[in-house]
Amino acid sequence: MSTGFVDKVTISVKAGKGGDGAVTFHREKYVAAGGPDGGDGGRGGDVILAVDDHLSTLMDFRYKRKFTAGNGENGLNKRCSGKDGASVIIKVPRGTLVRDKETGGIMADMSGDEPFVLARGGRGGWGNQHFATPTRQVPRFAKPGLPGESHEVVLELKLLADVGLVGFPNVGKSTLLASVSRARPKIADYHFTTLSPNLGVVYVAEGASFVLADIPGIIEGASEGVGLGHDFLRHIDRCRLLIHVVDASGSEGRDPVEDFEVINRELEEYSPELASRPMIVAANKCDLLGEDREPLERLRSHVTELGYDFCEISAATTSGTRELMQRAAALLAALPPITVYEPDYVPPAPDLGSAEDLDIYLDDDVWYAEGPWMDRLVSTVNFTDYESRMFFDKMLRDNGIYERMEALGVKEGDTISICGMTFEYKS
Ligand code: GDP
Ligand code: MG
Repeated sequence: MSTGFVDKVTISVKAGKGGDGAVTFHREKYVAAGGPDGGDGGRGGDVILAVDDHLSTLMDFRYKRKFTAGNGENGLNKRCSGKDGASVIIKVPRGTLVRDKETGGIMADMSGDEPFVLARGGRGGWGNQHFATPTRQVPRFAKPGLPGESHEVVLELKLLADVGLVGFPNVGKSTLLASVSRARPKIADYHFTTLSPNLGVVYVAEGASFVLADIPGIIEGASEGVGLGHDFLRHIDRCRLLIHVVDASGSEGRDPVEDFEVINRELEEYSPELASRPMIVAANKCDLLGEDREPLERLRSHVTELGYDFCEISAATTSGTRELMQRAAALLAALPPITVYEPDYVPPAPDLGSAEDLDIYLDDDVWYAEGPWMDRLVSTVNFTDYESRMFFDKMLRDNGIYERMEALGVKEGDTISICGMTFEYKS
């Protein structure tokens, strides 16, 4: 985005792979062959999203869009587990919506305090220490670590504010926010509009408060993608109430009624739903009105005829701002709470392929059978358990894996390697 403001980004994340289990044997002087003592692989690190209230834009993602968590280390001898991979925590502003890039499904709405695990690290594989059984004293296999999840997601900033300020640049939105809250937005005397949103908490009475957002200004043509447009309107998607600030003084030679209509059209074009949200019209800069109150009165009759609430204020002198905030609080009390988006992302069914897609080949006197089907089968088998091993064997037989190997020339006593585990072939 040319403005340098970032409120929508695509990032890709990859969790760490689990470490492989180790195949090692206990060694002691004078002891010929000790038992299996291969440790487990460490877990792969997760990629986690967490809210950071110091952030108000997604600007930090301008240069960094790839996040990779650490891999788990492989298991070691003497039953030592490999170290877990380091997780990566990505900080996002509150109100960030997380969508799956491919389907657009909502994965998470980062508006609460709960971190969200975006990509889960793979489990570490079991070392051969687990596979010592009375009948198989020399387990020459261990389980490989599982891959970590990876995702491409779109982050979208949708501020968590009750009330959004809309209006042309320079009408006094930032000044208003500063005068009613402790927020300190930049206030400019020229049409260089705010580039990042500012939030302020407005206290209206003991225990009653709401969040007010000063969003970057809307300018004419915004909804057609000219200049600062939709990207900014996205911020106020969640606002329950809008305060439309209009410069009623005509201090810049503008016509308040026309300005009001232009902004409303922009809102309408962006989203009719947003345009129909409850709105208070705040006629600002009333301190500048001289004898000629005609522009103000024209605006008043125009908007009241349309059924909007109307307030005369001066953000600079704070005249009328307290009443405006009280009016906003009263309207909010009757409105539904801020929208929190429910996740609706449905993870695609993993492509497991079929047994026929397995890649079977001989390499350096070892037979290999590889493919997603096999990976999944292996992950369901508990190799320490006799029944489970029989099930594995039956699956290979029933799906014609042995038959295919025989056709390729496998012989009694040959070594078969599956997912890093080796077996001896018995026909
Ligand atoms: P924004 O672009 O809508 O955020 O407008 P700003 O808050 O940055 O204000 C633009 C200019 O108008 C600044 O020079 C402010 O000092 C001035 N201004 C804002 N509100 C008032 C007001 O009520 N009276 C007067 N006289 N000037 C104001
Ligand atoms: Mg401003």
